[in-house]
Amino acid sequence: MKIGFIGLGNMGKPMALNLLKDRHEVIGFDTVSANLDGISMATSAAEAAIGVDCVITMLPNGVILQSVADQVLNNMTKGAMLLDCSTVDVESARHVAKLAEAKGIIPIDAPVSGGIGGASAGTLTFMVGGSEEGFTKAKALFEVMGQKAVHCGPSGNGQAAKICNNMILGATMIVTCEAFAMADKLGLNRQAMFDVVSTSSGYSWTMNNYCPAPGIGPTSPSDNEYKPGFASELMVKDLQLSQKAAELVDADTPIGQMALKLYEEFVFDEDGDGKDFSAMLPRFEKRSRY
Ligand code: NAD
Repeated sequence: MKIGFIGLGNMGKPMALNLLKDRHEVIGFDTVSANLDGISMATSAAEAAIGVDCVITMLPNGVILQSVADQVLNNMTKGAMLLDCSTVDVESARHVAKLAEAKGIIPIDAPVSGGIGGASAGTLTFMVGGSEEGFTKAKALFEVMGQKAVHCGPSGNGQAAKICNNMILGATMIVTCEAFAMADKLGLNRQAMFDVVSTSSGYSWTMNNYCPAPGIGPTSPSDNEYKPGFASELMVKDLQLSQKAAELVDADTPIGQMALKLYEEFVFDEDGDGKDFSAMLPRFEKRSRY
């Protein structure tokens, strides 16, 4: 396919390079000049959209996505795809999808899980919202950039799946960390704690695959001084999106709300900015109950 790739940051660049490696023709655009690595660059988002089969966006947020959509939609060929892989609010995703459909463009929201490592290795998971036709057409691209794509329903549902998943992830990481810190105070050895919980009903991805305790379980950012990995400020973003969505549909999410409050305090008032989201463990270690 001929692909316009807009947003060549930490995630977008390796994704675009994987498409290039698979012999797709990629024309890129970013507001910050990127190290090209073989990708030819357009001088504007609008230019990157001309004559392509698909415009892929990998951008910071919904406001920027809407502005880029305004720039590209008029230049796109009818029947082409607008594939947004950014994590944005559900409302923006649905708004952009409506604008695209009105112009005969196939909108697909497909946020990802797997981080920068998954983007480089081509092992991302895509959570996809949009029509069956769009999902089928984009499959070949998902296969190059990722290992799994789940069709979650109509436009916006990919974003809905992503923020529900990350609300669970954030809350689970917090409770895993507070349990480790409590276990320390109870005199329970961390290895014993891991061996029990990872094989008992308290097990989770955060415990078993991404253990926040250094030297315990599989290698994770905790073994690398909590360098991200998945940065705490990105968790704040996703938890903010989850609470925005909860407000939109009047959903009661007390634990998601608390997880957001704790990660906001960690990033904005404490020393969490730039640290992996599992650095909640050293945070809890330093604290007492009141
Ligand atoms: P990033 O900030 O590294 O990249 C975003 C890029 O978009 C930047 O290069 C920026 O210059 C560019 N950009 C901003 N405004 C633009 C515009 N108007 N036109 C063209 N380009 C513009 O961020 P990232 O880590 O690559 O994340 C991208 C998206 O993926 C975000 O929505 C993020 O939440 C999501 N995500 C990130 C990760 C991760 O681990 N980094 C994991 C999953 C999902």
